[in-house]
Amino acid sequence: MLKRSFPIILIALFLLSCTDDPESNSNITAFVGATIIDGNEGAPIPNGVMLMENGRIKAVGTAKATKVPNGSRVVNLEGKFIMPGLINAHGHIGGTEGLQGGRYSKENVERDLALNARYGVTTIVSLGGDGQPSIDLRNTQNNDSLNRSRLFVAGTIVTGDSPEAVRTVVTQNAANKTDFIKIRVDDNLGNTQKMSPEVYAAVIDEAHKNGIPVASHLFYLADAKGLLNAGTDFIAHSIRDQLVDQELIDLIKAKDVYYCPTLMREVSTFVYESEPDFFSDFFFLGETDPEIITALKSPERQQRIQNSASAKAYRQALVIAKQNLKILSDNGVKIVMGTDAGPPARFQGYFEHKELELMVEAGLTPTQVIAAATGNSAKYLGLEEIGSLEKGKWADFLILDSNPLDDIRNTQRIQSVWIAGNQIPLK
Ligand SMILES: [Zn+2]
Repeated sequence: MLKRSFPIILIALFLLSCTDDPESNSNITAFVGATIIDGNEGAPIPNGVMLMENGRIKAVGTAKATKVPNGSRVVNLEGKFIMPGLINAHGHIGGTEGLQGGRYSKENVERDLALNARYGVTTIVSLGGDGQPSIDLRNTQNNDSLNRSRLFVAGTIVTGDSPEAVRTVVTQNAANKTDFIKIRVDDNLGNTQKMSPEVYAAVIDEAHKNGIPVASHLFYLADAKGLLNAGTDFIAHSIRDQLVDQELIDLIKAKDVYYCPTLMREVSTFVYESEPDFFSDFFFLGETDPEIITALKSPERQQRIQNSASAKAYRQALVIAKQNLKILSDNGVKIVMGTDAGPPARFQGYFEHKELELMVEAGLTPTQVIAAATGNSAKYLGLEEIGSLEKGKWADFLILDSNPLDDIRNTQRIQSVWIAGNQIPLK
């Protein structure tokens, strides 16, 4: 990301010089001249003005309709694009070191939140594996000095083989006021015991008694129907065993449940069988430890993945997942962007941008995909203060060099990232 530093330094100098201006008596920063993409599928605003004060958006609109108050610091962004920061609706934070999982620590959580911020993923919903440090960070982020990604948490993933056992875990999470409750209803391609309908019904019942929505990991269409009937609020992965049918579409819409495809999760299961294209992508390399890349390129590791039955199955599952995404989107189902990044070799920050590419490949328009990763995501997840560029929301946004509506890969052309009005230092 080195090449980005130059314009950022210029902006920083510019802001500094304006602050020193004795005429300047306002806390307002005015971003002028950019095309503004609001995150709500609204038409982009060419030559827009966005006013920011105390970490929040004060006004957004056309240059004609939005007056820049006297004394504002003015940042000229002619030719640039402003869009809301990305929201990863399904990630995991702080549990990985190198290619090792199970290494959760406060330091790793903070490292990951800084990494995500540099990539423009300004909010992460961590669906499980969240200890006390994550809860503390979640509790202390609602202020205008925030300079890392926002975090929302599911706490401990709820497991157990009886209704009593799972109700206890839900209650423990509820005591920490987790934002979600997470369950896994999956037999991992026939290799493990699946949570029974009686047990997941108890989880959902107990979570709802505590006012907490339930996010469900699943794989099979039949389980999706069971979970929807039991009251799940959030489908946290694609249905991947077969194409969805009308019954599922009717059910998910009637229950007003949103759907998170996590296509990059499938990619991560098979892509290291050979050297992935992204190993030569500067946007990836700028943030990735070369030792990890070397380890992933080892011939023994590649051979193991080439021989893996589950890698083959998940490669096929990705094909079905993309088709289901298109069918569900076309039928008006609420889509949010998520990757399941965070575990080893699922690269946080980078994978979210690749997820956007896969969603477009699946047949969604860039406008739909950006909304799924910003405004709609916030709306469906109940994150009312973020997700779109509207008066009163936190100023979490990206400034891009090129138009992501022309080519979704332009979300990777990041000039700067802002969270609660603070510019994030990039590498
Ligand atoms: Zn997950």
